[in-house]
Amino acid sequence: MPPKQGGQDQDKKPSQRRRRGGKKHPKPDRAASPPPAAPAPAPKEKAPPCARGGRTNPPKKTDPALEEDSDVLLAFGALLKTGDAAACAAHARYEAHEDQARFIEDARRLLAMSAGGRAAPRAPPPGMAPPPPPGMPGSPRRAAAPAAPHPRSTSPRRPPGLPPGLAPPPPSVDHFPPGLAALALEVHSEAAPPPGLRPTATDDQDVAAALSALIGGPAPEPAKPKFKWVPPRVHKRRGGRVAFSAPDNTKGPLRPRARLDVSWELKVDAEGAVGTRRDVSVGLFRVGAPTNDAAIVAKQGRGAVEEVGLARGTVAFFAPRAAGAFVFRLLDPEPPGRQQISKMERPKASSNVYATSDKLDVIVRTHDDLLDSLKASLQQLEEPGRSRLGALQQLAVVAETLPASLAPKRQTHIGGRAGSTAEKRCRDKLRACLARCLDELAKHVPGPLTLATRRRADELPFHEDETETDVLKRERAWSVLSEEDEQSARDAFEVERVTKIKKQRNEDRRARDVHAACRRLCAAFNGNSASRQWLESAAPEQARRLDDVSTRWDALLEEFWPGGADGVAALRRHYDRADSFFRPTHQPSAQQHGFAWRALDDACARVLPQLFPGDAFFKRREEVRRRVEACLNNADVLGNGQRLVLRVFGSSANLFGAEGADLDMCVVPAEKTDKDLTSPEVCRRMGEALEQAGAKNVQVRDTARVPIVLFEDPATGLDCDVSTHNPLALRNTELLRAYAKVDGRVRGMAYVIKKWAKIRGINSPSDGTLSSYGYILCVLAFLQTVPQPPILPSLQRLDLDWPNPKDPNREPPARMPHPFDPSRDVCLAFHDPDKLGSLKDLREIAGRNRQSLGELLALFFRHYAWDVDYRNLVVAPRTACVLPKANKAELDCWPQNPHLAIEDPFETHYNVAHVLKYDKHQKIRKEFMRASKLVDDAAAQRIDPDLALDYICEPLPQEE
Ligand code: ATP
Ligand code: MG
Repeated sequence: MPPKQGGQDQDKKPSQRRRRGGKKHPKPDRAASPPPAAPAPAPKEKAPPCARGGRTNPPKKTDPALEEDSDVLLAFGALLKTGDAAACAAHARYEAHEDQARFIEDARRLLAMSAGGRAAPRAPPPGMAPPPPPGMPGSPRRAAAPAAPHPRSTSPRRPPGLPPGLAPPPPSVDHFPPGLAALALEVHSEAAPPPGLRPTATDDQDVAAALSALIGGPAPEPAKPKFKWVPPRVHKRRGGRVAFSAPDNTKGPLRPRARLDVSWELKVDAEGAVGTRRDVSVGLFRVGAPTNDAAIVAKQGRGAVEEVGLARGTVAFFAPRAAGAFVFRLLDPEPPGRQQISKMERPKASSNVYATSDKLDVIVRTHDDLLDSLKASLQQLEEPGRSRLGALQQLAVVAETLPASLAPKRQTHIGGRAGSTAEKRCRDKLRACLARCLDELAKHVPGPLTLATRRRADELPFHEDETETDVLKRERAWSVLSEEDEQSARDAFEVERVTKIKKQRNEDRRARDVHAACRRLCAAFNGNSASRQWLESAAPEQARRLDDVSTRWDALLEEFWPGGADGVAALRRHYDRADSFFRPTHQPSAQQHGFAWRALDDACARVLPQLFPGDAFFKRREEVRRRVEACLNNADVLGNGQRLVLRVFGSSANLFGAEGADLDMCVVPAEKTDKDLTSPEVCRRMGEALEQAGAKNVQVRDTARVPIVLFEDPATGLDCDVSTHNPLALRNTELLRAYAKVDGRVRGMAYVIKKWAKIRGINSPSDGTLSSYGYILCVLAFLQTVPQPPILPSLQRLDLDWPNPKDPNREPPARMPHPFDPSRDVCLAFHDPDKLGSLKDLREIAGRNRQSLGELLALFFRHYAWDVDYRNLVVAPRTACVLPKANKAELDCWPQNPHLAIEDPFETHYNVAHVLKYDKHQKIRKEFMRASKLVDDAAAQRIDPDLALDYICEPLPQEE
């Protein structure tokens, strides 16, 4: 593209531009001083801005009224071509004033007149333009336009799909009146070609398309569907059962390559005759595999309809040859012939999973098993295109589960090592595997460029590696291009930049995943003494490097990050969180901690009496409840005179409520009714009734999962909410209340944690952080699992007749349909010690733990700051033990991300912390770490231990 002859103007341009970003900027100088060689183009500033196809000026939406007008314009264009003087005059008037409405009105009128039998106007001689009306300065200039090509038409934007270097042909304008031709050309070259403006289109179509584009703006580009990440779901439909068993009828753990029989059942149409064939596909997957495409083995499961509506079959399998956790999934059968297609070309597998089996654990027991497993991992680490992450996880499972019998034999007195050939070969393979793992880790150290990807693409001013001078140079180079070419250059630059950022993001994520897998591997070798011995005897060099990785973060950096101290700082920034690597290596001593914990305990004893509510709390809330209940009944919100009862749940009833907490209520019909209480109608009527009764700030959320009305009670100023139908909330309130009664430390901890969370700004579900309910579940799970002996049992797992079991063969507690989701069921049973008379026993057991509230608080913060493996575990007070996230991913489609996840005690498929996005999860985890650090600081006397709780609950600084 030759540079434009802009004279000294060129030198000024870069300084007149915005230096950063690819945004389009005004260029008044272009219009003011057109290049002398080219004939005057149609003045650019006259074209409506929407006709210009700039990235930063999105096309306006076409007015539907004007769309019809395009028909008028089509006809008008034809009339204009005949040389009709009146039409020419109207067109010239439009050019001068750009009054579109008037232009179209004129066009309509003229067309009506010509259709009404007016004599056809005489065509002007070829090549002669109709005379412009006097005083129309634009006309002569435009008349010259067809003779010399429009300057911009020499570099029209290439429509997508055209090969590079091939410009789209301009529309045919030979027979057009000159002004209209110029406009058509301008629109053609300026805007992205509207759908009608194809190079092969007829003249009339060109005119119509150009005109409608001119008036209505270019046809709006179809809105790109906004990409929304949906967690991969493997279950769409259920209705089957799949189970496996080894020949000795055990369910595992099994050895690699063990023979298995997989039996399956599937509900089928009742019309299917008994005896007819029904096939399925049975796939063996690693637990949590996000899609059904990555089956380790998939087999066609031949079966038959054995009874009306039910098909059955069995398939023989072998367990995988590497250790790990696996499941079988029952899928639709693969279409015939599909197995012959190569894996890359196959269409995506069906997402219908009719059933998933229990977990199949494969562990190594002999050196031969171990050798097999290591060979499989090494193959996966070495083969191009295979997932390294899978291999790392596989090795970690081996290290976690290696039996003591495989620990290396002691050195013999002559100095050699005893052991079978298989054992020796295992050692070699282990060395090779670990060397590969460490290489992988080294490869995935996030580089400085990747750090930039933390920022959003549009915040990045220019390429990270581009200096300010480079930017100026680039801007200057662009400034000599025509406007279209410059825009294309900017667009291309933007595309390249975004692509680069996306690539960096992927690398970033991958680096994190590989680091996490290596951490798991380190933890596995350190957590199993057999593996540890084996590692030290077989691969001492790798053991040292792995030790560095697992114990000292800075050592990891020294080894893998050549940038030294800068590298350390960069990697810290990159992770932006202190994970187990950042754990302080010099912990205060137990004695120092004891001192800090006592101080914390004293502080709690001072604070708690102010937090616990008095009798007035319950009285006042009961009054409000009665008043609201009467108001809703008077307004007959359920219709037909049906009465309702309001029941209180949440902190006003679960013994965790503090002054100022909101009052959560829910409607329960006084008598049995068929009415759908969850209907938005009921919710709206409640809102209206409350508003009429004088409630303030009434908000009706009738489309929420549980429809709810929020309002402020005018008499007491209490924030209240009434939900229409919420039996599970009533039940979980009873459960929390039961836990609160078991031990005084439960309430004490919950009050302090709720206060801390509120003050530190991490207790607001509407802002994407955790609800009070979520924090209380975290407290319960902690008290069930961390203190030794545990302070709380799982009341949902404790038998109803505990501690005097009567019938060891009792039926499991009944399940009932989920109140909102008929496809699921829930079990609402739990051991309520108050009602069942076991409170004394439970208190006695809890009392065996003598840890003070201060110590428990300190451990709570440390636990959630450092010890919880958020990526792999779920907080689950239902089970009172750790619950793998892989299980929830497999069975309830939970995403396997590193966010805090909390299983609801009754709705086990529901993640109470699902609102947390990664940044909010980090925010909460940072607060846990801050609190834990403050306790350590108090122990090391870096802060006054008596003030530790005050520091922990220090209000956030006010935002400017
Ligand atoms: P606060 O004193 O802050 O009001 P609270 O104990 O009332 O605390 P909330 O978070 O208001 O706790 O929750 C009240 C009830 O709402 C809980 O008992 C629970 O049934 C329900 N709830 C709250 N958050 C969730 C959630 N994330 N998922 C499911 N149910 C929730
Ligand atoms: Mg509440």
